Amino acid sequence: MRDVSLWSSVLGVEKTVIERIVFDEEADKVVAHVRPRSRARNRCGVCGRRSPGYDTGEGRRRWRSLDLGTTSTVLEADSPRVRCPAHGVVVASVPWARHDAGHTKVFDDQVAWLATQASKSAVTELMRIAWRTVGSIITRVWNDIEAGTDRFAGLRRIGIDEISYKKGHKYLMVVVDHDTRRLIWAAPGRNSATVGEFFDLLGPDRCAQITHVSADGADFIDTIVAARCPAAVRVADPFHIVKWATEALDEVRRGAWNDARALARKEPKRGRGRPPAGSPPRPGNDLAKALRGGRYALWKNPENLTENQKIKLTWIAATDPKLYRAYLLKEGLRLIFTMPYPGAVEALERWISWARRCRIPAFVKLQRSIVKHRPRILAAIKHNLSNGLIESTNTKIRLLTRMAFGFKSPQALIALALLNLGGHRPDLPGRK
Ligand SMILES: [Zn+2]
Repeated sequence: MRDVSLWSSVLGVEKTVIERIVFDEEADKVVAHVRPRSRARNRCGVCGRRSPGYDTGEGRRRWRSLDLGTTSTVLEADSPRVRCPAHGVVVASVPWARHDAGHTKVFDDQVAWLATQASKSAVTELMRIAWRTVGSIITRVWNDIEAGTDRFAGLRRIGIDEISYKKGHKYLMVVVDHDTRRLIWAAPGRNSATVGEFFDLLGPDRCAQITHVSADGADFIDTIVAARCPAAVRVADPFHIVKWATEALDEVRRGAWNDARALARKEPKRGRGRPPAGSPPRPGNDLAKALRGGRYALWKNPENLTENQKIKLTWIAATDPKLYRAYLLKEGLRLIFTMPYPGAVEALERWISWARRCRIPAFVKLQRSIVKHRPRILAAIKHNLSNGLIESTNTKIRLLTRMAFGFKSPQALIALALLNLGGHRPDLPGRK
């Protein structure tokens, strides 16, 4: 019957008998009354195994589907329960929706696709759903994709990183593949057990195939990697090393700023407006003001500085030699990672002896960490492993954590991250 295939196609359903289509005026919805075809009936909602019927469950229920034009559309059907030998009494599976879902598969898939392409408000307004519902939908879509793919096939060189969000109150452990440059795994947590979950999933054979592991230098990651991937070369992440240097520099800047403020407090107060001619100079106030604004000038790579920031930096060089020295130490370390290997070995040696004698406590301390991690830093340069991959993944996930605000569980954030960065973008329904 032509009408049947037309409606199957319009509603995006398979293995489904469409009984009738009505318009529910009260609810302002198109309602398609459906039932699974006989071969799709009496199957366990979890595993799909054919199982004996149990009872009629909660009777008729509805699943939200994609709108027809501008009108909300639902599928309506019985939702009987079956007794699965493995899963006990469960709601029978239906061919048009995922287990335990209140939306059809095509609806889920479109939401998941949109969530990787559009803003939060575009998704929720267009699809007329709450953001936390988007979280549940992308979680089940990702679980489906995950079940159908082998994310860990041919894994050789991985990077492990820890990402904090919600102002450092929550943590994600993430694993990236340096060869495909994709995110392959993430889980909530920040300890050895979390990393262990990944290696458990990978299994001993594939762990043995891992040749390189880059990480941020945390001792617990080191220990577990040594135990689980004995053959792997361990490598430092330049991104984290440069971040340490930036943090040391910021410590020096904060010290300078506090000193300047202490000095400023002793200086005479001034009223509003232009100071009268001949009023006494206030170097402490000037310095404090400049250092407050100088933060970005000190942080950025020199090639990205604005004219104003360049002026600020020159000014710091002239007025605060210690802070400027700290800046040069940070920049020196950053540049080593851009050098070819033989030059980098020598440059790192020189940097260490410079930092050891620099009389800036934050950098003397940093120098000790650099010495501790020297073999891994040099391995990173030699194997050219993580050029920006860890940094860009880190930045993108941080953006996604902001987008994921309002999801009920971290699983939804992880699903969003893997859908976006894992190379498995969901298909838009009806476009294959
Ligand atoms: Zn089952």
